[in-house]
Amino acid sequence: DSLRVALARREFVLYYQPKVDLRDMRVVGAEALIRWQHPERGVLAPGAFLPDIESDEVMIDVGYWVIGEALAQMDRWRAQGLDLAVSVNIAAQHFLEPNFTARLCQLLAEHPATPPGRLDIEVLETSGIDDIDRVEQIIAACHAMGIGFSLDDFGTGYSSLTYLRRLSADTLKIDQTFVAKMLVDAGDKAIISGVVGLAAAFERKVIAEGVESIEHARSLCSLGCFLVQGYAIARPMPAEALPRWHASWPDGAWAGFSPA
Ligand code: C2E
Ligand code: MG
Ligand code: MG
Repeated sequence: DSLRVALARREFVLYYQPKVDLRDMRVVGAEALIRWQHPERGVLAPGAFLPDIESDEVMIDVGYWVIGEALAQMDRWRAQGLDLAVSVNIAAQHFLEPNFTARLCQLLAEHPATPPGRLDIEVLETSGIDDIDRVEQIIAACHAMGIGFSLDDFGTGYSSLTYLRRLSADTLKIDQTFVAKMLVDAGDKAIISGVVGLAAAFERKVIAEGVESIEHARSLCSLGCFLVQGYAIARPMPAEALPRWHASWPDGAWAGFSPA
């Protein structure tokens, strides 16, 4: 099928979106986001092609490609003097693949310059998983290798709290739908406040995605969420653009920003 062909033709590419800590304005890492450089249709976002391959075997091949490519990019940045933590998005179904930890180990071994602790896995779609204990076993095995875990789109799954309790993920990623309306919807703001509280109670880190304005950032800080990612900081960009962005951050719009 077309995605397998695209993989073979090397038409996939990873864009990177920075994550920053508003307490000291440092760049704490970047999220790798897949794009398809389609020969006719141009650069496609995952929404345009990933839903088709969910629960498909190609999804697993794409997932390994993403991990390998992210590690290769970390090597390249490291050679340029940029030591950046990178997170990749992996479907929870992918973890259940019997070879997951072995393949991950192998990919890490192919990139010895990059410490495993600089890789973070964002777990997607936990709501469809029955065997959550098995997912936790994999997380524990990856933790033993030094890899971190985030629960992506946190707050949207119907049983997020059970997952939170049973999965030893390091970070909760507040879904962007809550952030989008937090300035106008008291309910969404309350959810964010609740997630920040949960993160503290369970001793996890918390990050907000979809931060589109400095006003959003200020409001998130007032709720105790200082790690942020979103268009207000930077849009996802090609790997080559990141070092220059990094050198110019924080830019003029953020001059004098204070989290208090
Ligand atoms: P996600 O992991 O929750 O990623 C966040 C999405 O929000 C990204 O969309 C990002 O470009 C977008 N975004 C970032 N900042 C803002 C903002 O300030 N405002 C708004 N409105 N959007 C923002 P993208 O790149 O289209 O990816 C969509 C989803 O596709 C991701 O959501 C993730 O679930 C999935 N995805 C992306 N890359 C991969 C991948 O390599 N493998 C798998 N399995 N899924 C992926
Ligand atoms: Mg993500
Ligand atoms: Mg999301």
